[in-house]
Amino acid sequence: MSFKDIVGNSEIKEYLIKVSTTGNVSQSYLFVGTEGIGKLLIAKEFAKKVLCLNKEKEQACECKSCKCFEGLNHPDFYVINEEGDTIKIEQIREMTSKIIEPPIVANRKIYIINDCDKMTVEAQNCLLKTLEEPPEFAIIILITARENLVLNTIKSRCMMLKFKNISKEELKQYAIRNLGFEQVTEDLLESFHGSIGQALVQKQIQDELSQIRHIVDDLATEDITTIMSEAKVLYDKENIDDFLPYLSAVVFRKALNHREYLDCVEKIKNCNMRLKRNCNFDMCIDTMLLEMWESIRKGI
Ligand SMILES: [Zn+2]
Repeated sequence: MSFKDIVGNSEIKEYLIKVSTTGNVSQSYLFVGTEGIGKLLIAKEFAKKVLCLNKEKEQACECKSCKCFEGLNHPDFYVINEEGDTIKIEQIREMTSKIIEPPIVANRKIYIINDCDKMTVEAQNCLLKTLEEPPEFAIIILITARENLVLNTIKSRCMMLKFKNISKEELKQYAIRNLGFEQVTEDLLESFHGSIGQALVQKQIQDELSQIRHIVDDLATEDITTIMSEAKVLYDKENIDDFLPYLSAVVFRKALNHREYLDCVEKIKNCNMRLKRNCNFDMCIDTMLLEMWESIRKGI
């Protein structure tokens, strides 16, 4: 990974490259922008460059700091994430007590607080003093998609960088080149909301929906064991409430030309009812697939 592999926000990237090479780095930043547009990736690349011991800051640097960074065990680099739903005061206390210890490998020490709006108010207040007077070697990067939840007292102590959403054309090219989309329609592009993170979610959903379409096609041609083993997507408890209506819609559309599929709609409804009654999850899906398979076999 390097800056040039990260799509969008070229002005911010250029600015960060410049300050990391001149050494003119602020001690606290607030990265603001939509979820999933690469704020954390850019923050990490920036951190790597700042910590690098090589003055030239080459692309494929082999210095001790860059090696540690690539090995994900840099002793002077920390990312703080939510624990449970929030970033707790204990996490910030630990950070503020450790941050004063001098760096070990690099000349500086960098802390990223990801989704910093998840800090409780107590945690934010606890951070204030360190933000006011950080040790001279320390850099703190706060990242948020919900700037309104960050206390003004925090904001006023950071240099704010506002990230732009990725342009539609950039996102379209990225989705085709890097995410394996065959084509990206306007509707699909809208659903990305200018975010690579959302594009990834959409890609996963599309893959899953295509698996469901395959299951329906296979019901007429494959044996039941093959169908069950290929229907992993339906054994996903978390998403079954989204997948069953889709399965039902696919089956219904199929039934317009192949009447033997008509009974399957009923089988899906039955499965849904059993699930609502808290019957064994896997058994409900097994039964549904078997019943669908049988009724199609009967109809052919
Ligand atoms: Zn280096």
